[in-house]
Amino acid sequence: MQRNNGYRSAGTTGQKRRVRKRRRTIRPRAIVLGVVILIIIAVAISWKSLFRSDTVEEQQSSVQSEQSVSSTDENMQQSASSTDESVPQSEASTGESEQQSESSVTGELSESEPDIQVVDGITYVNGILIANKSYSLPADYNPGVLPEAQSAFDEMAAGAAKDGINLYIASGFRSYEYQQGLYQRYVERDGAEMADTYSARPGHSEHQTGQAFDLNEISDAFAGTPEAEWLEKHAHEYGFIIRYPADKEDITGYNYEPWHVRYLGKETAEKVYESGLCLEEYLGIDSVYAD
Ligand SMILES: [Zn+2]
Repeated sequence: MQRNNGYRSAGTTGQKRRVRKRRRTIRPRAIVLGVVILIIIAVAISWKSLFRSDTVEEQQSSVQSEQSVSSTDENMQQSASSTDESVPQSEASTGESEQQSESSVTGELSESEPDIQVVDGITYVNGILIANKSYSLPADYNPGVLPEAQSAFDEMAAGAAKDGINLYIASGFRSYEYQQGLYQRYVERDGAEMADTYSARPGHSEHQTGQAFDLNEISDAFAGTPEAEWLEKHAHEYGFIIRYPADKEDITGYNYEPWHVRYLGKETAEKVYESGLCLEEYLGIDSVYAD
């Protein structure tokens, strides 16, 4: 039946067949092409998605790192603020460690924190009796001149005499009461602020220790004299130091006094002299009035 019909409609059937044939021949190519295109698209998509996921990961990781940075900042701020908070609490220990580092900076001679002992109101730093603006003596402390200091001076004066230098004590031991009167006169004359630069308040004078002497001329005119130069060179050989050196005013709390010597004993005086430090620096202490 088809044939007949087919004959009748041979033209159309033939056309259809040709078309079918063409379709048949086209189909495999199209399928191959389609598959190739699909593969290409698939590859492209997967590539894109791979690339995209990479960048997303990168972005995410960069975001994460930013977050971690900001969180680090927060940590730092937190630790900084916690440090700030802990500062007042550990102020004393910080001060101590500062003193420690200061004294360690000032030389091998005072490596450790100063050993400060107060016995009957008298302060000893590393065994050395100290009277300065920070450390005072009791009003009733009246030792007089220390015999060792006196004999050391006598020896020094004899040594100086051999070099043609005449040394004499202008002011030795001074009691609390004497210093009180002296300081009061200076305050009345120059005012307290000025007086504090050259005269000790009662209880703070090294003269009350009995281990300090003012030699020869108690005035700036003494500086540069043969006597002052001899002292500068040789005092340590007899156990004395120039207690208030030039350029150490801020540390000792006093103007340069080339005439004021302090007895420390030969060994210590030698060490302080060699260090080039004033006594406060050498011991790692300060000299400042509390008020
Ligand atoms: Zn003096």
